Amino acid sequence: MGRVFSGIQPSGELHIGNWLGAIANWVRLQDRYDCLFCVVDLHAITGKYEAATLAERTREMAIGLLAAGIDPVRSTLFVQSHVPEHSELQWLLTTLTPIGELERMTQFKDKSQRFESVPAGLLAYPVLMAADILLYRADLVPVGEDQTQHLELSREIARKWNAEFGGGEDFFPEPAPLLTQAKRIRGLDGEAKMSKSLGNTIGVLESPEEIWQKLRPAKTDPARVRKSDPGHPEDCNIYSLHEQFSPAATVATVAENCRGAKWGCLDCKKVLADNMAATLAPIRQRAAELRARPARVDEILHDGAVKARALAGETMAVVRERMGFLKAGTATA
Ligand code: SF4
Repeated sequence: MGRVFSGIQPSGELHIGNWLGAIANWVRLQDRYDCLFCVVDLHAITGKYEAATLAERTREMAIGLLAAGIDPVRSTLFVQSHVPEHSELQWLLTTLTPIGELERMTQFKDKSQRFESVPAGLLAYPVLMAADILLYRADLVPVGEDQTQHLELSREIARKWNAEFGGGEDFFPEPAPLLTQAKRIRGLDGEAKMSKSLGNTIGVLESPEEIWQKLRPAKTDPARVRKSDPGHPEDCNIYSLHEQFSPAATVATVAENCRGAKWGCLDCKKVLADNMAATLAPIRQRAAELRARPARVDEILHDGAVKARALAGETMAVVRERMGFLKAGTATA
């Protein structure tokens, strides 16, 4: 059975873009692979962040994942900072990674423009990603299109370490991308990818009323200025969301009513809001049960970290030895 590693940042909200684009796929992967799923809180501090809410956002993301169907019995679910070996391996791999490679990363080029003084962590971010994956000697990584460059760098770092310290053995497998039918969900602005930082999301755990309040002002086909103007469903993000949340017969009716100007956009959105709320209701229900038992959530994360640390410890024992470090001694009387 191949091993899969994937992580998600503790943004504080699992939104429908995360869910449809990644997490629903994670849930399916559990049936076929040995999966490690990680709330990557160390990645979340790369820029300015709110320290006061980080712990709560981390627990809240874990609740979202569990409620969405991540099964802590079949998979290992844990928090990145609970396994200090991530940071240790990152440092060791940083010493092998050329700065030029890191400066070439598209995400670094984009994000560094937002800083007056660029933190070194932003540059080293992809090395932490490589450490996350290599620490568990994962074979497969489900990646979105915006992460393929980082995964390629992880493969290069693995090759480099193997060549330098592997002693003729490919100790680190080169992690391969796991191509899936993951969907790219646009935000409520109808343009950019759904993202918490852009404020264009709908949370998986939001109430039916909150869902409606967010869908009501959402962007639609600009051709529909008046209710009597025919629309083009293929140009409308509300239609794309119907395709994800409404039954096929409803999707067909939406297209017909839109093209024939048989209803207004608010009517269309109301049907979507109802279908979305109904689809997400069981997840909300499970999340409410978990929120009522935070100690149980912490216990699941503790058990996950114990399992992850056992694997990480095996890897690091080999890495430290091959890289020539003096083994820590035991106290003598
Ligand atoms: S009727 Fe529906 S699909 Fe058509 S433009 Fe309005 S919201 Fe979009």
